[in-house]
Amino acid sequence: MTSIAFIGLGNMGGPMAANLVKAGHKVTGFDLVEAPRAQARADGVTIADKAVDAVKGAEVIITMLPAGKHVVSVWSEVIPVAAKGALMIDCSTIDVESARKAHELAAAQKLPSVDAPVSGGTGGAKGATLTFMAGGDAKAFASAKPVLEAMGKKIVHCGDAGAGQAAKICNNMILGISMIGVSEAFVLAEKLGLSHQALFDVASTSSGQCWSLTTYCPVPGPVPTSPANNEYKPGFAAALMLKDLRLSQEAAKAAGARTPLGAHAESIYETYEKEGHGGDDFSGIIHHLRHLMPK
Ligand code: NAD
Repeated sequence: MTSIAFIGLGNMGGPMAANLVKAGHKVTGFDLVEAPRAQARADGVTIADKAVDAVKGAEVIITMLPAGKHVVSVWSEVIPVAAKGALMIDCSTIDVESARKAHELAAAQKLPSVDAPVSGGTGGAKGATLTFMAGGDAKAFASAKPVLEAMGKKIVHCGDAGAGQAAKICNNMILGISMIGVSEAFVLAEKLGLSHQALFDVASTSSGQCWSLTTYCPVPGPVPTSPANNEYKPGFAAALMLKDLRLSQEAAKAAGARTPLGAHAESIYETYEKEGHGGDDFSGIIHHLRHLMPK
């Protein structure tokens, strides 16, 4: 049993903390909002009044927060009161620069640290089937792995500090671009009089095959479990896809990489959000693309 502090008990953090309890760990949590605190309490998490109280005596401190500024702020607050040698793990999706800053804050107090963003969404968080992409030195990763295994089924060490976040935003840039590509193909097929099922049957076993088509198919029918069959309820909200595409473009700018399709995908999701669809599943982008087609 490990004593774990968990800060940020939202849609992802709540079920992740619950899985740590199920795995036999002693979990003390904190969130700014009462509803997630109440749910976590019901799941067996001891709730502290403040983040600094939650981390006292913890061997592992995990954060699952909205953005880089929240992570840097919480790490700055809790690191000075953390136990000697406590392992710091951030599982949020944040910009690479903030991730590196968080590692520096930990290193200044001689605490090991890992950035470990996830893929797999709320379903993966509930089912403990998340994929973790970790950045940090080999020793810190080795300590983090058994804890992450209680919340996920695939744990990949991507490299040094920030490498987990780099892997996450590169993966999600592929995802944003591929969903738009698959959706455009269905819109074109409709105009050409080709059925959704026929395009799916061909492309899913041909060179157009990809996750956006075979798991998250943006039209209802071919993949019964995709959000398209559930009125495009998320799933993975378009606003979160936009957040990740923005992170990828910030990183590309800072690193001097050319990612024209990533930039275009960002602008398409930006318009979709402005049209009021940030809360829809990101596969709903097909409606926006249909609307763009000339009459
Ligand atoms: P969420 O908004 O449901 O949860 C974030 C929680 O952090 C909220 O409950 C909020 O009250 C809390 N919080 C904010 N500032 C805090 C502070 N200073 N101290 C304590 N608590 C604080 O978001 P989520 O969907 O759980 O996502 C969390 C992270 O995981 C994000 O970085 C997101 O990009 C990433 N992510 C989400 C998904 C998904 O499908 N939801 C998938 C992969 C990654």
